[in-house]
Amino acid sequence: MIRIWISNKNRDRIEREFLADARNAPTGLFHTLAKEEVRNLLDEACPALYRCLYHDDTEHTVNEAEVQRLLLADRSALQDYIWQSGIIRKRKKKLLSEAFQYENLSKRKVLNTILQLMDVPVCPYCNRQYTFTLASGKSRPQMDHYYPRDLYPYLAVSLYNLVPCCAVCNTAKGPLDTREYPILYPYDEGFSYDMGFQIVAKDSDDWVNILHDGTGEFSLTVEKKRQIPLKKEAVVKNQMEVLHLDEHYDMHKDYIRDILRRQAMYTPERIHDLYRQFAHLFRSREELKQVLSGTDTDERGWGKRTLSKLTYDIVKQLENGHIRIEKPGEEEGGAK
Ligand SMILES: [Zn+2]
Repeated sequence: MIRIWISNKNRDRIEREFLADARNAPTGLFHTLAKEEVRNLLDEACPALYRCLYHDDTEHTVNEAEVQRLLLADRSALQDYIWQSGIIRKRKKKLLSEAFQYENLSKRKVLNTILQLMDVPVCPYCNRQYTFTLASGKSRPQMDHYYPRDLYPYLAVSLYNLVPCCAVCNTAKGPLDTREYPILYPYDEGFSYDMGFQIVAKDSDDWVNILHDGTGEFSLTVEKKRQIPLKKEAVVKNQMEVLHLDEHYDMHKDYIRDILRRQAMYTPERIHDLYRQFAHLFRSREELKQVLSGTDTDERGWGKRTLSKLTYDIVKQLENGHIRIEKPGEEEGGAK
């Protein structure tokens, strides 16, 4: 749901490190493809891909430019490979997975280097779990294959088919065929400002009662926030379902109550006072407000903290006056 933002400088470095490793490591793709048995295996399993990855010379040498293209393929290029490779039978898919072994890549140090450069501290699929990469290599996110390697084994070691994510999302997504049932592709897209969480009181609009976890209840949904193509709405709905995000987010109602309380307490007057007292701690009043609300107003910051998109949307809903939390005895329009 949250897009992965990588600076151009880091992207260059990531791609350079990734290619250098694939070229130099004994188990890297360039060396693997140069092996006689792998060449024969590829020729048998997927002739279209074979013709692409090897020169049409007498030696059938590896076409390095094409291997590089496969390793750094963006989403549209990944889709081209799927289209071009056609339907491959199960037995042949097994053969292919021997040539494109993700296990080899996952054991190499380069993956850690790349994950540190990518800097994805929170799962981009759910925005609920931290996924730090430790420099020691002792902990790092799992890598989901956006286009699953069971179905498209030749994309198993392509950089932008690997999405750092949490174990819960990786397991839930499993071998879902994202070509048929796409979810958001985090290198290009997220909920952004198009889709957002929304809370609705179930019976009564008495939000004070709801805050006390009394009889009042509320529900949480994801709605479009501006005019967007129907396709994106369907993709988001699919993501919510596949990753059980509806159910997971429903477990965060206590957290939502805390947002409501916090926002109700930080009135404009209180924020004014706090800023006067603590201006030296902040670059601007806006920054103070962001710290108090616990989220970023710029979507580029959402990937830094868990539940930041949920927080942003609920805070916005309050700011827009869609929810009113009034002290008992207070009428709309101000205190008595
Ligand atoms: Zn996740």
